[in-house]
Amino acid sequence: MAKPKSSLMDKIVSLCKRKGFVFQASEIYGGIGNTYDYGPLGVELLRKVREAWWNAMVTARPDVVGLDSAIIQNPKVWETSGHVGGFSDPMVDCKKCKGRFRADNLEHASCLEKPSKRPGECDGELTEAREFNLMFKTSVGPVEGTGSMAYLRPETAQGIFLNFKNVLESARMKPPFGIAQIGKSFRNEITPGNFVFRTREFEQGEMEFFVPPAEEKQWYDFWKNERFDWYKRHGITESKLRLRDHDKDELAHYSTACADVEYEYPFGWGELEGIACRTDFDLKRHSEASGTDLVYFDPQTKEKYTPFVIEPAGGINRMALTFLIDAYEEEQLEKDVRTVLHFHPLIAPTTVAVFPLVKKDGMPEKANEIVEMLRMARFTTDYDEKAAIGRRYRRQDEVGTPFCVTVDGDTLEGDVVTVRHRDSMEQEKVKISELVGYLHNAVMAWKR
Ligand code: ATP
Repeated sequence: MAKPKSSLMDKIVSLCKRKGFVFQASEIYGGIGNTYDYGPLGVELLRKVREAWWNAMVTARPDVVGLDSAIIQNPKVWETSGHVGGFSDPMVDCKKCKGRFRADNLEHASCLEKPSKRPGECDGELTEAREFNLMFKTSVGPVEGTGSMAYLRPETAQGIFLNFKNVLESARMKPPFGIAQIGKSFRNEITPGNFVFRTREFEQGEMEFFVPPAEEKQWYDFWKNERFDWYKRHGITESKLRLRDHDKDELAHYSTACADVEYEYPFGWGELEGIACRTDFDLKRHSEASGTDLVYFDPQTKEKYTPFVIEPAGGINRMALTFLIDAYEEEQLEKDVRTVLHFHPLIAPTTVAVFPLVKKDGMPEKANEIVEMLRMARFTTDYDEKAAIGRRYRRQDEVGTPFCVTVDGDTLEGDVVTVRHRDSMEQEKVKISELVGYLHNAVMAWKR
């Protein structure tokens, strides 16, 4: 993998700050290692990614239900899941610059003093690799001590296993069925980096799909294809995506198969999402450790079994970053270059922007009526009356707004607006009474 020489990444980082997608956290105090805040457009982007994920994984499916489990669970959960004993990365320290690096990832790291060199290739000597647990510890209750020690969850999946029986019974589910969850996870990553690709606090979208053991392979293939296809359907360039099956020596000891959806980032291929066969490992471990039988009894066949699990697990922030990188284009036009984000309209932070052609003749008032109508129809809508119309189009292109609606003389005379499409820059006249339906269709029919 090449070093991140790309100026594309620098451009994305700068656009994110300038336009209000992502800011450095605690910036006025000098920041805190690789932690970020999301600004007005960033939260909309995350919300759209979350919604697109939830729609595909839960809303559109009769066999998947949702859950929101706690971030802080009983510490026994993490002992049982193996995270206390084994959720670690091998780590080396540089004796000279005092940098700490993942021993299995040195080719992507840079010496703190000489960033053009890899750790160990500079003058510094590296220590032997030591295991470093990635879980954040905290204490619960008024007294600090061993009895009050707890962890911030490093994944959302365990909360799902803990509630397997609750959901099975309350939602009257029957394998094959899934439980999905979106929520924050925390990992004390040794070498975070590449902007929001790897951070210590991040959001995950995970789904545990519980199946009869004999159906494991069939559902694993199904979810691999479905998750790969989801990225394509939402506009990611297909040639920059690949599914990579893990080799046997990469698999966790309990796992029978695992594949990553990978994307070709400016800094090389990287994992976007993993789809893993977790067998019955988690349910069995929690059954044994808690004394609660986490099994399924099929009333028809009278069979009792522990379901096998297929898990698609992705990072919402990493998805948002991928959508941003993939959407970015500096498009050479006849006279100049325009910066444009070709987001799928379902992912774009703002779906429609409305402009009055001029700031007089009742056009701002009419434009505001249209804004209200579009907001009522649940479109994320922006209003802009500042600067020449061409400049306003370009501003929206730069943040990926797929449709601009302009109120002009025709609107005042004939209730017709001009809809301008971000990608083709083509314009069409549309009756106000048909605008909501028109935009709905345009969102659904969009193709990269
Ligand atoms: P990696 O190999 O990149 O550390 P992982 O294999 O440990 O990731 P999983 O535990 O499978 O990751 O987590 C599922 C998904 O959560 C990943 O595919 C990624 O999208 C996201 N993710 C994991 N760690 C981070 C992080 N530190 N920052 C942002 N997203 C993350």
